[in-house]
Amino acid sequence: MHENPKLTVAMDGPSGSGKSSVAKEVARHFGLAYLDTGAMYRAATWHVLDQGISLDDKAAIAQAVKAMNLIFSCNPAEEEIMVGTRDIREAIRGEEVSNAVSAVASVPEVREHLIALQRSAIDHAMNGMVAEGRDITTVVAPDADARILLTASEEVRMRRRGLELADKGDSQDLTKQISERDAKDSKVNNFMQAAEGVELIDSSEMDFNETVNAVINSINAQVKAKRAAASNADELE
Ligand code: C5P
Repeated sequence: MHENPKLTVAMDGPSGSGKSSVAKEVARHFGLAYLDTGAMYRAATWHVLDQGISLDDKAAIAQAVKAMNLIFSCNPAEEEIMVGTRDIREAIRGEEVSNAVSAVASVPEVREHLIALQRSAIDHAMNGMVAEGRDITTVVAPDADARILLTASEEVRMRRRGLELADKGDSQDLTKQISERDAKDSKVNNFMQAAEGVELIDSSEMDFNETVNAVINSINAQVKAKRAAASNADELE
């Protein structure tokens, strides 16, 4: 075994769990690439809306998403997300996309297509990657070196999202929007409970730095345990 094997970290969680900012900071700490899979579903949704496709027309949605020219960076220091030549970083965070994204993300062909892109990004990351979303620990990268489900109580999640959106001057009915989106997304993936082998970290009582440290400690412990198990298996052979 070489000294610095590639490190893949899978992280899931509901809206407002803080997983994006935490995952980015953790990626910087380990010198890894970072993949925001939610941004990919948001970009697909932006494209579907931009093309004027009805959210009920699953076949047209699937076709449009498969044909779109999605460009995204995996740099934790700078987000880049484009469809063709259009920079959509701002647009994908807006209310229109947030309200439509669950419908687009529930189309099986959309998931299949984006999951293939996500796995390819993980495979191509030289030192490894922190990938975050709703189904990374269970579907996209169940073999990741470390798998974490980051949650927080509903009250704390609403408050965090509220602060984020207030910064952007957004005054929509947050509680309703977030709980409806989580309910719709939960029909596609179970990201409220940790699957077997996935470590649950509840950040309700933690500030940002404490959460980042808890995630880093969990990754180190999971990697150490896997390496010990692998070397035990080698010795038995
Ligand atoms: O993480 P974020 O809130 O930006 O995700 C936006 C939406 O993308 C989610 O509400 C969900 O519908 C979808 N999503 C998904 N699978 C993922 C990541 C996000 O279905 N792995």
